Amino acid sequence: MRFASLGSGSRGNGTLVSWKDQLLLVDCGFTIKEVERRVERLGRRVTEITAVLVTHEHADHLKGVPPLARKYNLPVYMTPGTYRSRDLGKLPFLHLIEGYQPFQLDDLEVLPVAVPHDAREPAQFVFKAAGKRLGILTDLGNISAHVENHFYDCDALLLEANHDPQMLASGPYPPSLKQRVGGPWGHLSNQQAAGFLARVNGERLRHLVVGHISQKNNSLELAKRVLAEVTAQIPAVEYACQDEGFDWISV
Ligand SMILES: [Zn+2]
Ligand SMILES: [Zn+2]
Repeated sequence: MRFASLGSGSRGNGTLVSWKDQLLLVDCGFTIKEVERRVERLGRRVTEITAVLVTHEHADHLKGVPPLARKYNLPVYMTPGTYRSRDLGKLPFLHLIEGYQPFQLDDLEVLPVAVPHDAREPAQFVFKAAGKRLGILTDLGNISAHVENHFYDCDALLLEANHDPQMLASGPYPPSLKQRVGGPWGHLSNQQAAGFLARVNGERLRHLVVGHISQKNNSLELAKRVLAEVTAQIPAVEYACQDEGFDWISV
C-alpha cells in the first residue's frame, strides 16, 4: 500500500491511497484544476481514481468532491450525516457508510472510525491490506478511547498536530473560533498529538506524517520541538505541508 498527499491544512486537504488497482482519494478541498495539477505532480491522473472517500463536511475536505465526482463519474463514500449536512447536488454514485461499518474495495479493507469533531457524522479511516494498517487521523478535538483503540496499531499514520495552544490564544482568530479549534470537538494541539504518539504501538509504527498544521496558530519548528521526543524512535517522520502535501510513502 502507498499513500501521498495533495495538500494538508485548513486551506485544503486531499490524500491518495494506492493499492493494486485501487486509487482512492480521501477528501478533496481543492478546485478541479488544482486536483488535476496536484495528482499529476504525484505521477498519477485523476482518471485513475477509483473512489473518493469523505471524512466530513468542512470545506477544506468536501468542497472539491461534488464537482470532481461529476466531472470524472467517481463513486463517493461518506456517512449519511456528512451527506445530509450540505446540498451536494447530484452525485453519480453515492455509497453511504452506515454505522461506521468496515467495507471492502477489492481486497483493501476500509474501516471508518467515529471521531470527536464539530461535524455531523465525521469519520476518519484505517486502511488494511496485506497485513499492513494505514491510519488517517485529522480533524478531531481529543483522542477518545474509541479512536485510540482503532489507531493504536498502525504501520503508517497521518496524524494531525494542528495548533500550539499559546499561539492559538494570542493569534488572529475571533474568540468563538479559538474556543472551537481548541475545544474537545475541534483540532488536536501539538501536545495532544505527542501524548497520543507516546501511547501507540511504537514497535509497529514505521512511518509518521504530521499534518493539518495550522499556518496561523502553529509553526513547523514548534510542532517539531514538541514532537521530537516521542518521534525519536520512529524510523521515518515527515511533516506535510499545505501546498506540497507529501510524496508517496510505501507502507
Ligand atoms: Zn480540516
Ligand atoms: Zn474539520
